Amino acid sequence: MIKRYWFTTALTPLLAAATVAALCGQPNLQDAQHPTVITPGLGTAPPSDATVLFDGTDLSNWSKPGGDAAGWKVQEGVMLAVRGQGPVVSKQEFGDIQLHLEFATPSTPQGSGQGRGNSGVYLQARYEVQILDSFENETYPNGQCGAIYGQHPPLRNACRKPGEWQSYDIVFRGARFDESANKTSGATLTVFHNGVLIQDHATVSGTTTAAMQAEGPTRGPLYLQDHGNPVRYRNIWIREL
Ligand code: MG
Repeated sequence: MIKRYWFTTALTPLLAAATVAALCGQPNLQDAQHPTVITPGLGTAPPSDATVLFDGTDLSNWSKPGGDAAGWKVQEGVMLAVRGQGPVVSKQEFGDIQLHLEFATPSTPQGSGQGRGNSGVYLQARYEVQILDSFENETYPNGQCGAIYGQHPPLRNACRKPGEWQSYDIVFRGARFDESANKTSGATLTVFHNGVLIQDHATVSGTTTAAMQAEGPTRGPLYLQDHGNPVRYRNIWIREL
């Protein structure tokens, strides 16, 4: 009796494993490539394989459209949008990226609707993820903070209070084109706002308002919008995908 119990107990897990393997097909445990080892950042610090576009020091990675020196200010480790200076554009151009950036709308809110804490981050200078003070500030849904402007409202309003630091973590994949330059699929955006999923692999139907370049099979810079409000930025980095 004891012998039989031992035999059954020992064999059961093996039989179960064999059955699972037979049902699922044998996974190939040999051929997959080892992931590149990186060092993740502590907190919101960039990981070791990131390209840092703004670390609080200067605007050396940015310019005005056309190449003149960027007109925004750097003070106390923060980049500040300056009314009338126009956007700042990254000197480097990108394809598919992961983007992290932090922003804060003015701590004393002025204006309402689209006039309160408006800026925006444009991927490839084509598609805007709206930045707006949408904390107790009504506007049209596909123009509020976290919207892909004019197209997709955010899935949630995850805004912090005016003046508080907020984050975007964005996974962007550009539109795809065939050899004749016909679009085969639209650009997609997944966006986390303060850690909350607000755009879930949303497909963009075309460029958004005030895009700097038409859709096409080319890379493009990151661009931050001057919409007349002193929005602050810090800790901007990307990883090419
Ligand atoms: Mg905007």
